[in-house]
Amino acid sequence: MSNWIDFKELRANLDFERVLEHFGIEVKRRGDQHHGFCPLPGHQGKRNSPSFSANLARGIFQCFGCGAKGNVLEFAALMERVDPKNSTAFRDVALRLKERFCPEPGSARQAGKQVKEEQPAGKPVSPEAPALINAPLDFELKGLDPKHPYLAGRGFTPETIARFGLGFCSRGLLKDRIAIPLHDHKGRLVGYAGRVVDDKVVSEDNPKYRFPSKREREGKVFEFRKTRFLYNGFRIMAPVDNLIVVEGFTSVWWLDQNGFANTVATMGSDCSERQAKLILDLVMTAGRVWIVPDGDAAGERHAHSLLGQVSSHRFVRWVKLEKDRQPTDLSCGQLKSCIAL
Ligand SMILES: [Zn+2]
Repeated sequence: MSNWIDFKELRANLDFERVLEHFGIEVKRRGDQHHGFCPLPGHQGKRNSPSFSANLARGIFQCFGCGAKGNVLEFAALMERVDPKNSTAFRDVALRLKERFCPEPGSARQAGKQVKEEQPAGKPVSPEAPALINAPLDFELKGLDPKHPYLAGRGFTPETIARFGLGFCSRGLLKDRIAIPLHDHKGRLVGYAGRVVDDKVVSEDNPKYRFPSKREREGKVFEFRKTRFLYNGFRIMAPVDNLIVVEGFTSVWWLDQNGFANTVATMGSDCSERQAKLILDLVMTAGRVWIVPDGDAAGERHAHSLLGQVSSHRFVRWVKLEKDRQPTDLSCGQLKSCIAL
């Protein structure tokens, strides 16, 4: 019915983060900014440097590699190989975005009605219902192979592999990846991350880690947000004297295997406000937070992101690793000498 479109209003109402995720882009948020490889199909030139940035609050983007820039609508158009100057095609893109992300009440009347009839009275459900964030899963992946050579090859023992529930997945969304169960603070399984087993196949379309994508089930929308999640947090018997914070999963497993059970990961180099709060909740007021990031630029960012949010509340130690070394490169003895709890 209503094909009228107010571009300005639509732009204001669209959440750029959701639009990026809609196009399968893993959002690397730092404040209001996202930085990453340029996802535009028309991008020419190198894709090995993060030339693309988006201001999520203002709904604008820019790539200094291909020179593309504009607003969230123009971004969506370019992703769909539509020239934003082609007003008819551009309008179609905008209409689809509007329908998907900002439907008018009643505009999805037909679809809504069908759903309603199957639902208990008074509970209309639409795909645009607010997403349930990090909600418990009602299934578990079966048939994961804990004996995959990748895990043993990185030095993980069968005990560690079993403790973290790891295993190679041979089908579905996590095909050819190590499935990593993600548990919320109450220990409930909320999803799986997946790590490729062969770093050579990592590319822009095939990231090293895959996180749960948004999904619909029985009229509800489920969404995983790692910014609201601390990996391994549920195992910590809080409050603790000493908590170790690392960037990634493998560092957690490695430290745990070497006697440092109180280790959590932010799953990336940026610590969100929520993650900082979760970290503080786990540590006694007089306790210490040990930051053990990788010895690279991202690790440095990780440390600064944590220091900025945690150091005024707890005593913080930053264990700086040598250049290009990761916690998993250190032997038990080396770990014990630099993390002297
Ligand atoms: Zn570009």
